[in-house]
Order: sequence, then C-alpha cells, then structure tokens
Amino acid sequence: MQCSTARLRNCGLPNVAIGEFALIDRFFAAAGGEGRDDVILGIGDDAALVRVPAGHELVVAADTIVAGAHFPREFPAEAIGYRALAVNLSDMAAMGAAPAWYTLALTLPSADERWLADFSRGLHGLAARHGVALIGGDTTAGPLTVTVQILGLVPAGSAIRRSGARTGDLVCVSGTVGDAAAGLRALEDSARGSSADREFLIERFIHPVPRVELGLMLRGVATAAIDVSDGLYADAEKMLAAGGVGARLDLDVLPISDALRRYAGEEGARPLALQGGDDYELCFTLPAAQFPAFEAAARAAGQVIHSIGVVESDPGVRCQAAGRAIDLKLTGYDHFSS
Ligand code: ADP
Ligand code: MG
Repeated sequence: MQCSTARLRNCGLPNVAIGEFALIDRFFAAAGGEGRDDVILGIGDDAALVRVPAGHELVVAADTIVAGAHFPREFPAEAIGYRALAVNLSDMAAMGAAPAWYTLALTLPSADERWLADFSRGLHGLAARHGVALIGGDTTAGPLTVTVQILGLVPAGSAIRRSGARTGDLVCVSGTVGDAAAGLRALEDSARGSSADREFLIERFIHPVPRVELGLMLRGVATAAIDVSDGLYADAEKMLAAGGVGARLDLDVLPISDALRRYAGEEGARPLALQGGDDYELCFTLPAAQFPAFEAAARAAGQVIHSIGVVESDPGVRCQAAGRAIDLKLTGYDHFSS
C-alpha cells in the first residue's frame, strides 16, 4: 500500500494534492458500507467480511470501464462513477439477483479532488438508490480505469441463467432499445435533432437505468435472461445460443422511443434498436402462457416490457418485418457499427 501511495504522489501529474489514504477516506470510506447490517467489516481492513443469509447463493460479477473505450474521454466524472456501478447492477438484474455489496478498483491518472468528488457523487447516488454498500477496493495510479465487482444474493437455485430458453417461449425486452447508441451519436454531432430529443437520448446513454426491480420480478418466471450491452440482436443471439435454441424476431414490434423515431427517422431507428449497444435493458424469455399476467404485473410495478419474438428450435436469430423475412446483410444492418 505504501507503494501505491508513493505512486500516486510521485506520478508527476498535476493536482496530486491528496494521498491515497485521505482519498479513500474522504471519497469512498465515508459514503460506503452504510445502511446495511450485513456488512461485518467494511473498508479499512485487509479485506471485507459480509454475512450471507442461510439458504442463499452469492452472485458475483465484475465489469471494467476504460476511458476512450467504454466512454468518451471527455465524459463527465459523475457519469463515469454512475456507469461503473450501473453496468454491474445490470448484470445482477439479468441474473435475478438482489445486489448487496460492491468493491471499487480505481486507477487514476491523478488525484484530482474535483474529479473525485463528482465521480463519487455519481457512484454513491446510484448505490444509495439500490441499497448496495461499498465494502472495499484498491487505488492505483495509471490511465483512467474503473473496475467494480458486485456481489448479490439469490435464494439457492433461483438465479436466472442465459441457457434456459425453450422452444415456444416468447422473447421479450424491457423499456426501449437503440436510445443509448443514438445518444452517443448525439453527443458527437450537435447539429442533428431537436434539443429535447437529443437531451433524452444523451441521458439514456449517460445514465442507463439498470433493471434491478424487473430482474427480481423475473425470478421464477423467466426461463433465460441477459442484459443488453452489445445490442439487442447480438445479446439475444448469445442468450439463445447458450440454450441451444434460436428465435424469430418481429422487427415491426421492436420498442422504439418517440425521441429515437424522430431523431433517426423510421428507417434509421430500426437498425439502432436492433444493433445499438449500451441500453442495459433486459432481454429474456418466458413461457407464452405466462406473458399476459406477467406483463400486467410488471406494468403495475412501473416496468415496461414487450414481446418481440418466439423461441424456435433452429439455432440463430431470424428477423421478419411486415410478415416477410429480412436478411440483415442485404439491408445493410450488418454494416451498422456503433
Ligand atoms: P491493502 O494494501 O491491504 O490492499 P489498501 O491500502 O489498498 O490496503 O486499502 C486499504 C483499505 O481501503 C482496504 O480496506 C481497501 O479495501 C480499501 N480501499 C482501497 N481503495 C479503495 C477504493 N477505491 N474504494 C473503496 N475502498 C478502497
Ligand atoms: Mg489494496
């Protein structure tokens, strides 16, 4: 630890006014670990100790985000903090897990206090909303990289896996898709679209909402689930392949926001909805007979879901629109790059 303190102090970068311990104390220890009585030992020791309730399994995931690769370099610090946790909460949602604790491994080019204050505000704000506690981490100097490891709980045997889809199940997706990919474009091109639409789409990219509550509702109902990070088509295919099945998707019923329709036009919206990434919605399958009751229950709980296709025994994802098969390669969808 002395070593990383020295590195933070001697890395030759501006704004290194604060040491590693002060930094952890001020921006992370003070706000982490609160509000959960199952944290036996939080930040400050060599490792954290948490209580896992009897009859439960621990669900573990980690995601790293790198400046320039997973978010633009000029991304606001608040949004980087938010995103680092949001993408991990989304993995918990896709497993039907209740997120409980997380660790933060932070590599910083400098200890810029203003940046850290904004970053930790984004992080802790989302953590508080979901009742997850920061229980430890690591802090080093280097190119900006943020790794969050998240731990969640499910009653033993009840986690939703990618592999459970069965022929005849409906393929569903939450919310609307394509907004985040359009939001990224809107960030880069300020000329296009109305300011209200641009704002909506950019917000969808900067602050994706992890569907944790929906994930919990899907437990015991969904046969398979995945969160949409790489694009609906790619992620649905991944999930279905894990179950050794395929699907037919109806492109006419893809949930597309009014803002995206106006921003990209009818023609432009569909490839974004199908192949744009970063929405962090949930794609899942469930037995067709359960859809109406589940959709109503979800709606009553403020969760929007849509059925977009049917699981078939043939592997691969086939698309149709206006009752006709669509070859994504012929339509140029395949050349869409995000
Ligand atoms: P060690 O050298 O034993 O790994 P550290 O000095 O790296 O200890 O960390 C001291 C304590 O601060 C540990 O409890 C660790 O989990 C926590 N910690 C370090 N960096 C962070 C961070 N970025 N966020 C939250 N906790 C952190
Ligand atoms: Mg350490």
